[in-house]
Amino acid sequence: MSTETLDFEEQVALQLAQVREELLNRLRYSNVVHDNKLFALLNEHPESDWVAHLRDYSGPNYKELVDKLERLEATQCQFDLGLFGFCSDCEEPIEDTRLEHDVTVQRCQHCESQLKSRAQ
Ligand SMILES: [Zn+2]
Repeated sequence: MSTETLDFEEQVALQLAQVREELLNRLRYSNVVHDNKLFALLNEHPESDWVAHLRDYSGPNYKELVDKLERLEATQCQFDLGLFGFCSDCEEPIEDTRLEHDVTVQRCQHCESQLKSRAQ
């Protein structure tokens, strides 16, 4: 195993910090007063409440970042529960290559392709 790469739990913590910082910066320096107010609101609340406030108050421009924040928080929860890295459908371990690509992925390759073929 390579010692250069962060482990998955460290990656999630790092990405969480990055996404929160990006959200704060965008709200803070936005030209929209509403966004600046939301920035102030978030500062008064614990990070664990941010997704709820952002869902209620942030516009469509922030949706992608908020979605990412929510996925990362859910993934961090899975570490606490000892469920990280297991497929949400078949409960088999998710392939490392998939997790390395996106640490918040919820399904193994097999279930993901099943899901896609059903959706078509
Ligand atoms: Zn699966």
